[in-house]
Amino acid sequence: DRQRSDEDPDILADELALLLANLNIKVVGRIDQKRISPDPATFLGKGKVLEARELINLLGVNIVVCNDSLLPTQLHNLRSLLGVEVWDRPFVIMKIFESRAHSAEAKLQVELAMCKYEIPILKGLGKQMSQTGGGIGTRGPGETEFERHRRKLERKVVSLQRKLEQVRKRRCNSRKRRKRSNISTVAIVGYTNSGKSTLLRALSHDDEIYCADKLFATLDPKVRRVKLPGGKHVLFADTVGFIRKLPVELVAAFRATLEEVNEANLLLVVIDPLDKDPLESLTVVEETLKQIGAASIPRIIVVNKIDMIEKDQLQSLLERLSLPSGFEAVPVSALKNINISTLLKRIESSLSHIDSDVKLFTD
Ligand code: GDP
Repeated sequence: DRQRSDEDPDILADELALLLANLNIKVVGRIDQKRISPDPATFLGKGKVLEARELINLLGVNIVVCNDSLLPTQLHNLRSLLGVEVWDRPFVIMKIFESRAHSAEAKLQVELAMCKYEIPILKGLGKQMSQTGGGIGTRGPGETEFERHRRKLERKVVSLQRKLEQVRKRRCNSRKRRKRSNISTVAIVGYTNSGKSTLLRALSHDDEIYCADKLFATLDPKVRRVKLPGGKHVLFADTVGFIRKLPVELVAAFRATLEEVNEANLLLVVIDPLDKDPLESLTVVEETLKQIGAASIPRIIVVNKIDMIEKDQLQSLLERLSLPSGFEAVPVSALKNINISTLLKRIESSLSHIDSDVKLFTD
């Protein structure tokens, strides 16, 4: 059977390394585990725990990240056996969303996901403490503290949900999107690892960094101002990447964080032809855009990394894309700077069409 890309351990490990790099965390070692099912107590199993301990000492590791979800007890046991921070995949993803959430709604969604993540861990710890504590009938040390903290979190969940409700209502009342200025924004969307940040650098020649201009100093570092060939300035925004095997509990936080895409005038949807199934990835991106209400924003499909594929491979991919009318695909290599100037021209002409459409509409 063909393996799906979201089940390939190498692809998932590369993606995790990239997500960690986004958090300024460098991967220095990797341990592969080939068990049929995870060890219920430690996920890794005895042998691998020892191996991990050796690696931690050898490389001076601060954090061990498991590329899967850990049960609260596994998390707790690993922490005490390894003596370092232990994170799991959902936690890494939440950290990424946290760093990329700007709107009130996105921030609330991420906070909610974080609380919901922590509650069962505290429950597990409370139980373990009471089991290991003194004689029968006595409370374990720290149990009340865990309990107190857990109850506080549970109250917070309720209050966050209430706040979210209010934010949503307010947003519905003022449908009109706030515009930072008259400058057009182009959002770059696609899976993590498709080359979004490399493309942002290529499009902006790495020189026009936002903070050079006071007006944009409050924008996030993934936004750059670029002068198009015809002289017009636009903002390019790198967005939170799609992630393979996204845990369901994080879908709402992901969508809210991505929702800022709604403010863009044009989308660049980046696809990676080296992906096991680029068409399927594109479908997921399109579906999600629809769900966040961005379906009507004009877009250009950017087929990246063409330096890595043969001409006929590219041709067949372009044919299979079967784009609806009005959509176009531009093949580029962000890394090797191939066809970037063509892409910039396409962006410019798309934006000028959009501008004139808006004029017609408002006239
Ligand atoms: P992002 O997660 O979508 O922002 O992806 P990155 O821009 O960080 O790129 C992911 C990986 O793909 C990096 O190792 C890049 O060097 C590589 N990459 C990006 N664009 C290209 C390209 O056009 N050609 C090749 N060969 N590699 C690329």
